[in-house]
Amino acid sequence: MDNAANDTIFGKIIRKEIPADIVYEDDQCLAFRDINPQAPVHLLVIPKVRIESLETATSEQGALLGHLMIVIQKVAAEAGLKNGYRVVTNIGAEGGQTVPHLHFHLLGGRNLSWPPG
Ligand code: 5GP
Repeated sequence: MDNAANDTIFGKIIRKEIPADIVYEDDQCLAFRDINPQAPVHLLVIPKVRIESLETATSEQGALLGHLMIVIQKVAAEAGLKNGYRVVTNIGAEGGQTVPHLHFHLLGGRNLSWPPG
């Protein structure tokens, strides 16, 4: 992990410099509870390596991206989301991204309306 390149709030969480309610961790990724939950279950799943957003991911990172999807499936099951859930990644200013470190929101535990705002 490149510490200098990880200098976002999520980099600090990965390096355990600030606390987070971590629900899953392995050598490639981390899942933790969002500090401002928008649903009864609101987790963030992030790679440990800093990728700014899905927009800047490369084809060489395809296996890592696939791993994140499988981890989402695993933590959703562990959260008991039997009736469905939503996975969102915001990209850039118009996408509503506020932290420039790729993250997937996993939202569940209530009926989620569509389209999102
Ligand atoms: P974005 O708006 O970039 O898609 O999502 C960033 C998310 O990170 C937001 O939902 C926000 O609540 C969450 N967040 C920001 N800072 C922290 C933090 O320090 N800890 C945790 N657990 N979540 C954070």
